[in-house]
Amino acid sequence: MAKETELICIMCPLACRVTVTIDDEGNVTGVTNHLCKEGEKYAIAEYKFPGRVLTTTLLTDDASQPLLPARSSKPIPKTRLMDVMYSLSTIRVKPPVKMAQVVVPNVAGTEVDIVSTDELPE
Ligand code: SF4
Repeated sequence: MAKETELICIMCPLACRVTVTIDDEGNVTGVTNHLCKEGEKYAIAEYKFPGRVLTTTLLTDDASQPLLPARSSKPIPKTRLMDVMYSLSTIRVKPPVKMAQVVVPNVAGTEVDIVSTDELPE
């Protein structure tokens, strides 16, 4: 028996409540209530592999700039976000760091890199 689940599309401010229909094997068989193709793509991806781009700050070794803004290079599975945050809490970034530099490769074994979104001068 098919089941339906509702997701809120986060691809634009309209925040459509998109309905995803799933068959007995867990396959997506339909998407409705979306206003555009992006919503359909988002809903299918969110149902199959729910993840989020992580934005955070990392502690540094530099007393004049103790925090470095950073983000993940791609979405991290939601089930791994706490592992990633714990892993990031244990590191200290050493200067110098350039904008968009990979500061933590393959964070917590997720195959996702953490990249700087600011500079940390020497
Ligand atoms: S379905 Fe389209 S219009 Fe609706 S929130 Fe998503 S991106 Fe925006």
